[in-house]
Amino acid sequence: MKNRLYQSLFLGITSAIAASASYALITPQNETQASMENLAITPVSTPSIYEITANFLGQTAELEQPIKPRNIEHKIRANESLSSIFPLYNINSKILKKITTANAIGAKFANLTVNNILIIELDDDYQLQRLIYKKDIVNTLVATRNGDDFDVRMDKKQLDNHERLAQGIINSSLSADGIKAGLSANIINQLADKIFAWDIDFNKDLKPNDKFTVIYEEILVEGERLKTGEVLAAEFVINGKSYSAIRYKDKEGNIEYYSPQGKNVVRKVRKTFLRSPIEFARISSRFNLHRKHPVLNRIRAHKGVDYAARSGTPIKTTGDGKIIFRGRKGGYGNVVIVQHNKKYKSLYAHMSKFNGKYKLGSKIKQGAVIGYVGKTGLATGNHLHYEFLVNGIHKNPLTVKIPHTKIKINKTFLARFKKQTQPYVDQLNRATTETAAIKVDKLFSKKIKKL
Ligand SMILES: [Zn+2]
Repeated sequence: MKNRLYQSLFLGITSAIAASASYALITPQNETQASMENLAITPVSTPSIYEITANFLGQTAELEQPIKPRNIEHKIRANESLSSIFPLYNINSKILKKITTANAIGAKFANLTVNNILIIELDDDYQLQRLIYKKDIVNTLVATRNGDDFDVRMDKKQLDNHERLAQGIINSSLSADGIKAGLSANIINQLADKIFAWDIDFNKDLKPNDKFTVIYEEILVEGERLKTGEVLAAEFVINGKSYSAIRYKDKEGNIEYYSPQGKNVVRKVRKTFLRSPIEFARISSRFNLHRKHPVLNRIRAHKGVDYAARSGTPIKTTGDGKIIFRGRKGGYGNVVIVQHNKKYKSLYAHMSKFNGKYKLGSKIKQGAVIGYVGKTGLATGNHLHYEFLVNGIHKNPLTVKIPHTKIKINKTFLARFKKQTQPYVDQLNRATTETAAIKVDKLFSKKIKKL
């Protein structure tokens, strides 16, 4: 009885497909009268896209079961959930409960993402047989009928890790030519902001015909790139000078980029100090020994760099060291001073608050958040005032020469390092040689053409 109702409901459903709109299902008053006129489908104002695979059974079965939908593809709209979707297809709420409580995975049906597809498979009697929800590229939730109950599982596609080598020649910029060479934004950011941030100013230093080679991880799903992982090795040849960096994971699991320097020497690509204590902040005032002070309105040396940033932006210590001052200090407001070794000191002023994790005397690592941007002391707006001192003398933090971190290398380190990194060093070398060869070939062919 119930089934017959559904069958007539879906009569003439092809017109619904054509309209590609959403329809609320209303029970026809008299099922024997089912025809195009009393088609029990009424449009609903908000459109939704679902497709119905109709199955035509022929005329002889009369009008009671002429066309049957089987697989419904329902695109999730805002604020939809299974409890609002199921009634659209006359699926009982008891089934909803059976699916969501079948096991721990069943509960995941509660989180549906807008625009994702839900596939509803019905049998000849319009009973739900399978519910498939494509969560993302990798994960698919599947609920399959098993008697009166449902088995729920998560299908995961196989992820494959690959290493990829990309090469390019600079024509305009690293981002434009990097993308042309197949690099993702993620890889380009790693190169520019993390790995070579110290050695190369990608806005100023790159010139046409400079070269780059990058070996990086790529994660594939069924042969297609899902995302890129980390840079494994890279080399830039800028104005004939080579800059290379190889990723190495030490015994403790710390990951750093190193540069091979000769036969038995490596050095960390990361330098002793970060160039700036805040990422991506605008410099609002530079180091200037003859600046007119914005608050005092008279000439007063500006012995640091100001970074304009929103109140609460984390401030990182630029190098490893020890907090030697942490408190209020006149015009500086809340200030932290870090002693790095005998030679270097850095100062961070106008903080709104300190990071409670560290105290006076605390030892801190490069990049540790010591406080947050504010405008305490003499400040017109929220900013960080940053000073860098070498042997007690203020230096311009933007131009001061910063040493590379030297690391003690013993035999065991070197052996382990070589084992892990040598394949990449070889690949880089090979790639560089090959591009050189290509270039020579091109020149040669040009000459031939001229002849
Ligand atoms: Zn300042």
